[in-house]
Amino acid sequence: MSRQRLGQHFLIQGSALHRVASAACPDHEPLVIEIGPGRGALTERLLDRADRVVAIEIDSQLVQFLREKFRDEPRLTLIQADALETDLGQWGDAAVAGNLPYYAATPIIEKTLALGARLRRAVFLVQKEVAARLAARPGTRDYGYLTVKTQFLAEVKALFDVRPSAFRPPPKVDSTLVRLEPHDRAAELGIAGPAQFLAFTSLCFRQKRKTIRNNLAATYGKDALSGLPESGKRAEELTLEQFADLYHRLIS
Ligand code: SAM
Repeated sequence: MSRQRLGQHFLIQGSALHRVASAACPDHEPLVIEIGPGRGALTERLLDRADRVVAIEIDSQLVQFLREKFRDEPRLTLIQADALETDLGQWGDAAVAGNLPYYAATPIIEKTLALGARLRRAVFLVQKEVAARLAARPGTRDYGYLTVKTQFLAEVKALFDVRPSAFRPPPKVDSTLVRLEPHDRAAELGIAGPAQFLAFTSLCFRQKRKTIRNNLAATYGKDALSGLPESGKRAEELTLEQFADLYHRLIS
């Protein structure tokens, strides 16, 4: 993949780097996994705030550069790999951070959230539009399956925006730092099978313009849905609690 395709926009603004590192490690952290360290600007700041950093970089030339730059730093473990192919749980409980390559931001977020309780928090710099979808409220344009899935697994907070001029080369879009803190909404909402529940919500959003009833009819049958007024709405209107309620009534 070309360097441009790999999303290599390096964050150079000191104040932004400082804010990303302190959001990732509000207190001293035992372990931070950094996705896509690039030339190591954020890595340096994370090392100031963590006992140990594991940095996963796909680009072999950057890994060589980093090996040289951090040759006297035993607390950094550099991994040359695709983060999407790496078991992020292998080092134990960790905070995860990164200025993510835009092309892979969503799958990296999904993979990170799959760590469940082993994830202490995730702090990612992503395209502003992606942050808006992650943090969206029901009834808004940005609210979709990615929102529901993410908010089911974690408390999402958009922390601040970063202008293109803070990067070299500058990207075409604004970026936002988002923080994801895992929570157990499944237990709170009484959902025994989180994967089945997410498959159900995904189906509700299958065709966004259609009502939930229309999206679910082929799977659950029209009769089962007719007594459920909520299913006459579009998925984008429902809160997580309403999805859980609909799910319980449908499968009972
Ligand atoms: N963290 C650096 C910074 O803020 O200056 C670089 C961020 S740059 C937006 C994204 C980095 O992720 C690049 O160094 C790129 O090579 C790396 N990268 C892209 N795809 C990756 C993947 N699948 N796994 C690991 N690293 C990846």
